[in-house]
Amino acid sequence: MTDRIVVVGSGFAALEIALTLRKQNQGIPVTVVTGETEIVYRPWLIRVPAGGLHPPVIPLARLLTEAGADVVSGRVMAVDLERRHVRLDTGAQIEYDQLVVASGAVADRERVPGAREHAVFPCDLPDAAEFAMRVSAGATRVAVVFGWERPGPGLEYAAWIAARRPGVRVTAIDGDDTMGRRFGGKAAAWVRAVLEKRGAQLVTEGTVERISDGTVELQGSAFEADLIAIVAPLRGSTEWLPKALLDQRGMLRVDNAMAAGAGVFGIGDVVAVPDGYRLPPALRSIQATAAGIARNVTGALRGAVPQAVLRLGQPDMMGPDLAGVALLVRDQRLVLRGRLPLLIRSVGERRYLRSRSAQIA
Ligand SMILES: Cc1cc2nc3c(=O)[nH]c(=O)nc-3n(C[C@H](O)[C@H](O)[C@H](O)COP(=O)(O)OP(=O)(O)OC[C@H]3O[C@@H](n4cnc5c(N)ncnc54)[C@H](O)[C@@H]3O)c2cc1C
Repeated sequence: MTDRIVVVGSGFAALEIALTLRKQNQGIPVTVVTGETEIVYRPWLIRVPAGGLHPPVIPLARLLTEAGADVVSGRVMAVDLERRHVRLDTGAQIEYDQLVVASGAVADRERVPGAREHAVFPCDLPDAAEFAMRVSAGATRVAVVFGWERPGPGLEYAAWIAARRPGVRVTAIDGDDTMGRRFGGKAAAWVRAVLEKRGAQLVTEGTVERISDGTVELQGSAFEADLIAIVAPLRGSTEWLPKALLDQRGMLRVDNAMAAGAGVFGIGDVVAVPDGYRLPPALRSIQATAAGIARNVTGALRGAVPQAVLRLGQPDMMGPDLAGVALLVRDQRLVLRGRLPLLIRSVGERRYLRSRSAQIA
């Protein structure tokens, strides 16, 4: 057995947990297995099809190396939970004492029938670039289907394209009654008014049942479009983990201490939290949990019992950026709207990007 902590992942979760582990305890070796050397700042992907610049890029490998972590290039293909080692696509095997799963989530292309064949999923830079290319290539009717685990980006794409591409008719379609369940009447009415002011349409009647060639089919209605984007349903990037640790969406099931089993913790989009707890797949969740998870991981090296990181009854918060204005919704209540929530968000974002030496185009 080694005293080594191994982090698997190449995104914000891997970066934040590794930096926090090193900051809390310089003496403990931390190895990050990553397929990437940089992180693209995903919250700014929503501006790409609207003609925005390349999103900021965070120098992942450099920051990790400067913090004293070992960076190993490759993808983890399998884990042996009993012998405590991971196997990489390079053939290398790395032993660990504690494993932190930070391998994130990807668009679930199968969740809505027909979506894989007939829609784009702009959840990472290549897919956002494809979406942008097809908008620029002359799509005049664009449907953006949003909802499920992460409704914000879909609404944001719709608002930004409507604001910046006057020739394009945008329809934002609520895929699973997110507006009714999470936004509440007042916030939904305000989002509708903002979109309509920009010449876009918001559809909230019925859930999306199927996507076919050029058509989004809802219960009882259908919308035609030249280009259909679907933003959200997520599934865990966990093909390398034993099924016993996962839920039906392939997410890593953790307890309130973010532990998934002996010697295994999770952080970021990859986790599924127990009933009664709430941890949205968002950067702010990673920032809020990294310190507690790091303490539990290093504590586990000494045999300490992990402490709760999550609290019961956390509010459901959302704050989508609707191009020039934003809103803040808390438990179905519209708390703030207009330019102020955008300003608050932008100050936090810029501070974070500066702290992580991001290159902004
Ligand atoms: C369009 C869009 C807009 C968003 N806007 C916001 C926003 O405004 N505010 C906000 O807070 N959040 C936002 N988010 C969410 C935020 O980007 C995610 O919560 C965050 O990226 C999650 O980070 P992560 O590291 O958990 O997962 P990921 O970003 O998915 O990173 C995981 C990484 O691990 C790698 N990996 C997977 N498997 C392996 C393996 N076996 N071995 C090695 N590496 C592996 C993957 O390739 C990936 O690079 C947005 C997301 C999208 C898609």
